[in-house]
Amino acid sequence: AKLDGRNRFVMYTDAIRNEHEDGVALETELRDAIRRGEFELHFQPIYNPRSGTATMAEALLRWQHPRRGMISPAVFIPLAERTGLITVLGSWVLGEAIRSALSWPRSVGVSVNVSARQFDHGHDIVGVVEALLRMSGIEPHRLTIEITESSLIDDPDHVVSRLVALRALGVRIALDDFGTGYSSLSYLAHLPIDTIKIDQAFTQELGTSRKADSLMNAIAQLAHDLKLRLIVEGVETQEQLTVIEKHAVHGIQGYIFAQPMTAEDLLPMIGDRVAT
Ligand code: C2E
Ligand code: CA
Ligand code: CA
Ligand code: CA
Repeated sequence: AKLDGRNRFVMYTDAIRNEHEDGVALETELRDAIRRGEFELHFQPIYNPRSGTATMAEALLRWQHPRRGMISPAVFIPLAERTGLITVLGSWVLGEAIRSALSWPRSVGVSVNVSARQFDHGHDIVGVVEALLRMSGIEPHRLTIEITESSLIDDPDHVVSRLVALRALGVRIALDDFGTGYSSLSYLAHLPIDTIKIDQAFTQELGTSRKADSLMNAIAQLAHDLKLRLIVEGVETQEQLTVIEKHAVHGIQGYIFAQPMTAEDLLPMIGDRVAT
């Protein structure tokens, strides 16, 4: 039977209500989950093409929900951001990532995603990181903080001052998801960052069009001129790898080498061992 306008409307509002109730339930569960220890970090190795070894790993947050199963960060991170819980969760991630890295070879760094809201005025991210560095004794250069351009939209001067303070501690800063936003090149030159990470949407185009390949060329040249490290993420195919290996790239990350994995599984993948 064909739906009339009214039925359509009822179905529509029902869908919104369910979504909303789901959101409220999730928020409560998010609070409890932090307390109950349902969060876990997985790690994806980042390979240095020169040495053929993993010299870094990116920490990726996982929520092992007792009933819903594994929930993707794409679902719960936006929720944690809206509710402000991301500052608590984000500090936990930083501490846990550093704790894990302490059991790795000293040549291997850890990269941690940090949300825009962790730079809010009411949250002292520099103090959090400083305390964690001091308590753990980890060499600060082993920690990289990944930000996206979205962090810089609301109050760029404030965020830049936080980044400058973090770098003064010896921590490295990476600009994540590069190539998806509106980064003007002049703006890139003035950001206090050490690394750019090329987004996987961009990586997917490599090897399929001359245009994408020549853009890769331009980005590699730019990174070189600005003395920034370059990491390419989301590398899945041999074709992409072939294009990437023509350039001076410092890190390659993607399913072609390894998926994100537990801290335990990561251990034999990092350090001196050569990637296959
Ligand atoms: P991201 O920072 O851009 O992380 C890369 C995402 O791409 C990860 O998804 C990773 O599993 C996935 N990936 C890695 N290699 C490949 C590949 O070769 N192909 C494809 N198709 N995907 C690949 P994941 O783990 O689901 O995380 C999604 C996003 O959630 C992250 O994107 C990041 O924005 C956010 N996120 C994850 N953990 C945290 C965290 O601790 N804090 C914050 N604030 N955000 C986080
Ligand atoms: Ca990232
Ligand atoms: Ca990314
Ligand atoms: Ca992303």
